[in-house]
Amino acid sequence: MHAHTPAEHTVDGVAPVAEMHLVHTSDDGQLLVLSVLVDEGSASEPWQTFLDTATGPDGTTSTIDVASLLPSSLQYWSYDGSLTTPPCSEGVSWVVFSEPVTLSAEQIARLDAVHDHNARPTQGLNGRVVRGGDAMLRSE
Ligand SMILES: [Zn+2]
Repeated sequence: MHAHTPAEHTVDGVAPVAEMHLVHTSDDGQLLVLSVLVDEGSASEPWQTFLDTATGPDGTTSTIDVASLLPSSLQYWSYDGSLTTPPCSEGVSWVVFSEPVTLSAEQIARLDAVHDHNARPTQGLNGRVVRGGDAMLRSE
């Protein structure tokens, strides 16, 4: 899990204030990134735990219910893309939830303090197709 400020994805040409990436790797090395866009609004208690941990002293750990970090609607856009940090490898499946979560101004300021302006410039679609969908959480 990590964050970018501002967001790396844009919606109608506008970048939300931040974007959280939940990076997954399959046993055979395929990459899937779940992206949660962030708008300024009400404070998020689940994301506060992430913030406390990510900005705490080295070695700080916590347990987070990842489902609690996702927006209430799991409608998403998906496309084939690349990593947004060097080596920017291709072959990454992206799932970007269309409904942002909100963090308070104070929470966003804490993110900015450790992740200020680490967003890769927006890349063109270059013929790629963006698909829409709706996901469901399943507990096992
Ligand atoms: Zn990222």
